[in-house]
Amino acid sequence: MNLRTTDLKTETNKTNTDTEMTKSTNVFNQARKEGRNYLLEPEAKMVCMEYGIPVTRFKVALTSDEAVKFAEGIGYPVVLKIVSPDIIHKFDVGGVVLNLKSQSEVKAAYENILKNVKRHKPDAKIVGVLVQEMAPPSTEVIVGATKDPQFGSALMFGLGGIFVEVLKDVTFRIAPITESDAREMITEVKAYPILKGYRGQPPADTDAIVNILLNTSKLVMDHQEIKELDLNPIMVYEKGAKTVDARIILEYPSKPSPSQE
Ligand code: ADP
Ligand code: MG
Repeated sequence: MNLRTTDLKTETNKTNTDTEMTKSTNVFNQARKEGRNYLLEPEAKMVCMEYGIPVTRFKVALTSDEAVKFAEGIGYPVVLKIVSPDIIHKFDVGGVVLNLKSQSEVKAAYENILKNVKRHKPDAKIVGVLVQEMAPPSTEVIVGATKDPQFGSALMFGLGGIFVEVLKDVTFRIAPITESDAREMITEVKAYPILKGYRGQPPADTDAIVNILLNTSKLVMDHQEIKELDLNPIMVYEKGAKTVDARIILEYPSKPSPSQE
């Protein structure tokens, strides 16, 4: 398997350009060529960036020294995460370490992540370790998309944590959606008052969520190979929002033949 880690190492806080456009298409093509059915987090975030969906700044390190160098560039605190085509739930294998505030913490976390992953999944191929900015805690929302063979992609919106997991307080629309669809989605969840601000809490930037919903709609319309998309969580601030974890699951009309790999 030949993962193009050099592409993943590109600094990623840029906005839409033609080069980014090419990169995104390359990301899908590369995953397909390797017969992978999901994108690595840095790949998924690269695609998000191309579509104007804000993500935490990140770089993929191949050594602990490199991780420190990237952490210094990004600014503390940072988060380190395993990047592996064999690990989809990173946290469960000890592959995520949050809130690292110094060089020595980054070095230790790098080694710990590799150790944890080797223990839980000895055969996992390791592409590198993702160094990313730690998004300050805030109101968490989720944007998702699931493809239905009959109706196309259904976009989902809800507030994070118990609102989605326990209360199932979510709303759906079939893509493509309009701006007023996106606004309706946000206002119709029961937890909407939390976004509006309550008990002295400042209101969350709903325009930023509208943009994420519209851009996600465009992304799933453009890329029919997206079976599932999960931006979970997205931290929403008084101004702006940031996607902390992005998962994109792929499906192909037919399985790639061995000759394509
Ligand atoms: P998993 O693959 O297990 O879903 P995540 O990347 O979602 O791993 O990380 C697990 C959790 O850690 C997230 O749900 C979030 O609460 C927290 N987290 C991850 N990355 C960041 C970040 N950059 N800033 C703040 N919190 C983060
Ligand atoms: Mg996650």
